[in-house]
Amino acid sequence: MSEPTRPRNFIRQIIDEELAAGKHPDGIVTRFPPEPNGYLHIGHAKSICLNFGIARDYGGRCHLRMDDTNPTKEDQEYIESIQQDVRWLGFDWGPHYYHAADYFERLYEWAELLIRKGKAYVDDQTAEQIRDTRGTLTEPGTPSPYRDRTPEENLDLFRRMRAGEFPDGSRVLRAKIDMASPNLNLRDPVMYRIRRERHHRTGDRWVIYPMYDWAHGQSDAIEGITHSICTLEFEAHRPLYDWFLDQLDLPRRPRQIEFARLNLTYTVMSKRMLSELVRDGAVAGWDDPRLPTIAGLRRRGYTPEAIREFAERIGVAKADSTVDLELLETTVRDDLNSRVPRAMCVHRPLRVVIENFPEGEVRTIEAPNFPDDPPKMGHRQIPFSRVLWIEEDDFLEQPPKKFLRLSPGREVRLRWGPVIRCDRAVKDPGGRVVELRCTLDPDTFSGPPRDGRKIGNAIHWVSAAHAVPVTLRLYDRLFTVPNPAAGGGDFKAHLNPASLETLAGAQAEPAVGAARPGDRYQFERRGYYFADPQDCRDGRLVFNRIVPLRDSWAKIAAKG
Ligand code: ATP
Ligand code: MG
Repeated sequence: MSEPTRPRNFIRQIIDEELAAGKHPDGIVTRFPPEPNGYLHIGHAKSICLNFGIARDYGGRCHLRMDDTNPTKEDQEYIESIQQDVRWLGFDWGPHYYHAADYFERLYEWAELLIRKGKAYVDDQTAEQIRDTRGTLTEPGTPSPYRDRTPEENLDLFRRMRAGEFPDGSRVLRAKIDMASPNLNLRDPVMYRIRRERHHRTGDRWVIYPMYDWAHGQSDAIEGITHSICTLEFEAHRPLYDWFLDQLDLPRRPRQIEFARLNLTYTVMSKRMLSELVRDGAVAGWDDPRLPTIAGLRRRGYTPEAIREFAERIGVAKADSTVDLELLETTVRDDLNSRVPRAMCVHRPLRVVIENFPEGEVRTIEAPNFPDDPPKMGHRQIPFSRVLWIEEDDFLEQPPKKFLRLSPGREVRLRWGPVIRCDRAVKDPGGRVVELRCTLDPDTFSGPPRDGRKIGNAIHWVSAAHAVPVTLRLYDRLFTVPNPAAGGGDFKAHLNPASLETLAGAQAEPAVGAARPGDRYQFERRGYYFADPQDCRDGRLVFNRIVPLRDSWAKIAAKG
């Protein structure tokens, strides 16, 4: 990795200063610690790129840890998807794969240590009582009547909690800190609760489970994490994490640094909302290409390179902000622009008959797959014949002034092909245009018109007899408003009913017939497309639109 290309951000600055001061003789250790209760999304990708990127650039390591302290919502399916997604993004945790659940025994021993030091107590109050006596931002909390139990009594009760002598929810272990602290997190937070729930990793071994706040910092310390990088909402928890670490005589302790989480317009990024969409069938699954999940973006056709580049472009800051979805789409376009071949695909076909081109004759045109740099991707053959398909909306019977495509009496160039003139439109009994009768200028197969007349833009087309039928799935924003989660109402009320349009009758040029699942193309004048890895089978070709060429919404918005 060469110095100048290293992304700068305030976290790397901190690390640079620490290294200059001789800290971290054993290297930099970061971690990505998801709770396996859902699929990862683009916000997680930001965190993954940050943590694994720092480890890579500083010659350190990054752990992948399942923060699985909550037995109810966690699932093996999620664990596998998380591993797959991190790998797909291009990162490798090597042997450093961990589970917070593997530290349950150690955490339990540390809890006993706190009890013996008089720093934790068993509270018999109900969850509601504990909540109600916590106080407010302006008023201190009320100490529990059980707060002054002796260490011996607490130890006995805590062991019996573990042994399963008490019903669920009847007792908790609390840290004994300060019920008047201005930081509510320090008002004797709960460390353990009783919960008879099977855990995906520890089975029925435990009936008490540690709270996230008790498990998280200690897990980092156990693994020798040097920098616990997390999102801003944990800033107010840091004094609690530090307090816990202070009680335990640990040789090394992590430094927590908070950064702003990624928010994106026109989507939701909370796992609760995402799982609601999946559960209610608003989308086809966790990998629905409309979701901001990594599985969804992958299925849509995004590349890991584009997502990593996006993470660089948004940077890492200390203040919350919302990133425009368009920045993500622009990044994807920039990535695909230089790496995918071009081809022609007519989305909504309109039949064109070239009256001065003989029936049965075929003329073969050679065209570069990557016109900006033809040697890069070679050439393909495009057959031209009497009957063609063009795009329905490339013809207008009564065109406005600036319409540079086909209309009666007007000419247009066929991309890589000749100039044609529309002589007349054939209509069905309902008055709908079903066919155009055209003539071509034979001199223009390989050059401009001899008489120097100007021709407007080129339109894409395919030869009807040679075309390959394909299905196109056009994805749009999942929501109609920039922030569907705002306002406290039902975010699902803002779902975009037009977020998926399926075109079953599209026609592509023959070269596209060789597409393999997972291939990408730019269908000229339309967008970037991805041959769906699951639905392309039995000779059927299904393409997901990754992103249109330009943002059509912006155009609509500009028009007012
Ligand atoms: P949710 O709030 O939707 O439940 P989470 O933050 O609880 O998500 P975790 O599995 O705990 O999900 O997240 C794992 C890591 O990813 C955490 O370190 C968290 O800070 C980070 N992360 C989660 N969401 C974002 C985001 N939108 N932007 C950046 N980092 C994120
Ligand atoms: Mg979390």
